[in-house]
Amino acid sequence: MDLRQNLEAVKQKIKNACEGAKREPSEVTLIAVSKTKPAEMIEEFYALGVRDFGENKVQELVDKYERLPKDIRWHLIGHLQTNKVKYVVDKAYMIHSVDSLRLAREISKEAVKKGVCVKILIEVNVAGEESKFGVKPSETEKLIRQIAALPGISICGLMTVAPYVADGEENSTIFCSLRELSIDINAKNIDNVSMGILSMGMSGDYETAIRWGAVYVRVGTALFGERDYGI
Ligand SMILES: *Cc1c(COP(=O)(O)O)cnc(C)c1O
Repeated sequence: MDLRQNLEAVKQKIKNACEGAKREPSEVTLIAVSKTKPAEMIEEFYALGVRDFGENKVQELVDKYERLPKDIRWHLIGHLQTNKVKYVVDKAYMIHSVDSLRLAREISKEAVKKGVCVKILIEVNVAGEESKFGVKPSETEKLIRQIAALPGISICGLMTVAPYVADGEENSTIFCSLRELSIDINAKNIDNVSMGILSMGMSGDYETAIRWGAVYVRVGTALFGERDYGI
């Protein structure tokens, strides 16, 4: 597999989507989702200039963090259990998947202990799928107000995982809803809360997400190829 070619193709599509949306490509950060993929592949993308990588498991993120260059920004994009928080607060550049006060309290506690400030996004279950993590849109503002009061934690925006669809355009309404929610919350001017980041869009729908204002797109398969989870 030619990783350089994959990267060029994704970058070109990001550029085209930005042009269509009258946005600057520099407003969109590509997070290369490297879960299940070996360090060697990450090194190859690193050599091509990629610095943002996404992982969904704490152990895997920590292992790769130890092994790979220290200027990589590791984004934790998967569900985080409270008992794993202590391993990751000082290693993740940003935690995209905060969806409960209980989890935020644990992050805050560990952040204060380690003397760091952890950047987080609030994961919203816009699609309302039972199987998905994330806070309900209607409960998002309340959760944000509660988390904003905690020390050692900084809310930077919202994240969502849209359903898998054959045509990415089908997720337009999901991305539009997350954007509107972010605009509504931003208008409340809550102390210690920024809504600057919208983390949305994956291999199948990142171009659509960019049209709706995505700041981070999380792309795995289109860069690394299909994942093999083994058994
Ligand atoms: C795996 C994953 C991605 C990347 O998915 P692809 O379809 O392979 O691009 C993005 N976001 C989250 C939260 C993921 O778990």
